[in-house]
Amino acid sequence: MRDWLSHRVRTSPDATALVHAGTGESWTFTELDGMVEETAGRLVALGVAPGDHLGVVLEPRVEYVTLIHAAMRLGATLVPLGDGLTPRELGRQVETADVTVLVCGAETEARAVEATDDVPVLSVDATVTANATAVVSIYEFLPEPVTPATWSREDVQLLLFTSGTTGDPKAVQLTMGNVLANAVASVFRLGFDPGDRWLVTLSLHHMGGIGPVLRMPLYGTTVVLREEFEAGPAADDIDRYDVTGVSLVPTMLRRMLDSRGTLASSLRTVLLGGAPAPRELVERCRDYSIPVYPTYGMTETASQVATAPPDEAFGHVGTVGRPLFWTDVTVVDEDGERLPPGETGEFVVDGPTVSPGYYGDPEATAEAFGEFGLHTGDVGYVDRSGRLYVLNRVDDRIITGGENVDPGEVADVLRSHPGVRDVAVVGVPDAEWGERVSALVVPETDELDRTDLEAYARERLAGFKIPRAVAFADELPRTVSGTVERDAVRERLAAHDETDDGGE
Ligand code: ATP
Ligand code: MG
Repeated sequence: MRDWLSHRVRTSPDATALVHAGTGESWTFTELDGMVEETAGRLVALGVAPGDHLGVVLEPRVEYVTLIHAAMRLGATLVPLGDGLTPRELGRQVETADVTVLVCGAETEARAVEATDDVPVLSVDATVTANATAVVSIYEFLPEPVTPATWSREDVQLLLFTSGTTGDPKAVQLTMGNVLANAVASVFRLGFDPGDRWLVTLSLHHMGGIGPVLRMPLYGTTVVLREEFEAGPAADDIDRYDVTGVSLVPTMLRRMLDSRGTLASSLRTVLLGGAPAPRELVERCRDYSIPVYPTYGMTETASQVATAPPDEAFGHVGTVGRPLFWTDVTVVDEDGERLPPGETGEFVVDGPTVSPGYYGDPEATAEAFGEFGLHTGDVGYVDRSGRLYVLNRVDDRIITGGENVDPGEVADVLRSHPGVRDVAVVGVPDAEWGERVSALVVPETDELDRTDLEAYARERLAGFKIPRAVAFADELPRTVSGTVERDAVRERLAAHDETDDGGE
């Protein structure tokens, strides 16, 4: 295969590839192809060669979309890096992924320069402001002819960092075969229409954001790019551009619904993942006829593992549906033994979307893969009909006074209280009990009363599961992909304990 855009431009040259949500400007596949060819040509002039690791630290701009396809044309592995990272974090990822050239823009230039002193830094902007000597604008070079690279399925197309919920972000190798298998299995589940327009408003350094941009030339459908997520304007984009699909994390969808009540009826697919979809949110979608597809996935599987179409999501609230075509999910116990349906254990995933491993980290790779495939670190069960339910992560299990507590169960009980909007339950280290069950609660109203909530929990949970500490917050700390940052929750609860001790 050559890069997918060069195949697409021959089959539907005049279809719209990209729309900029902010300005309304749009580009056909032919126009995008021209931009990609030019950028690739300038990168060749600057010495970028097949096999290079092209690091990108950019806001989700049109130039980013161009670079994604230019890297494929050149035969370079793309390494999308978080645009919100500190220079130190960025520097570590540049090193971990053996980035050979780092591309930035005016908005990320200063950070890119500070992050590295041995990797050349290029800017996609014509004017280079700070550190003019350290950054070279790609416009300083005339494009040279590009020989389109030939890819095989095993070639690593992307090095993508995980969100770092459970430790340092890991550099996941995704092959062209992984991304292709996911693109195919995804349309099998979500359906396809040649007129589809997908709103991209998730970060491009996570699969949820970059996935639709990679798939756009495969499907020949349109990407509507919103550079910065804002709930109201994102909801308006759906109406304005007749958007048919969008990937969101639960907090984004909730904010969009809060700000606009409902979403335009052009929508055919709301792919909702990255974190558990609260029951209340799924029910709201049902009430407003919003076609929500709760999904469970991860970087290591090039996104979706399982996805529930709306009927299934509404009929079995809490499920993320059945595994995608080709994907096998096995539930195992702590010894790695296979468990029967209905029993709770760790999800192990196998199939053509699963990454060959972590880049430059054979130990982490060996640790993650077992007899049945990739150990996800996620805990849940599969019901008799083959539907997946995700409960929590292996690392989240709380052990208090020798008893195992599933924080998801405690959170579900607290969340069912009408005064609770959202909640995170974690274990906080405790000298006497090992860990203490603690909850950070986002109240629905000012009236939520702590003793009332405790009484409510006591009626529904065994004594050892009842949170010993409860703190209130306006919002839960979350990663950009929507997962709760449990360390941050623990810190807040610890800080709360200190103020409590001081005050009482
Ligand atoms: P790290 O691997 O560095 O700890 P991470 O696992 O959060 O970070 P990602 O690959 O971005 O990094 O996220 C995938 C994880 O997100 C899954 O393993 C799972 O824990 C969580 N997740 C995704 N979708 C859902 C869902 N529908 N319900 C519950 N959890 C989900
Ligand atoms: Mg993970």
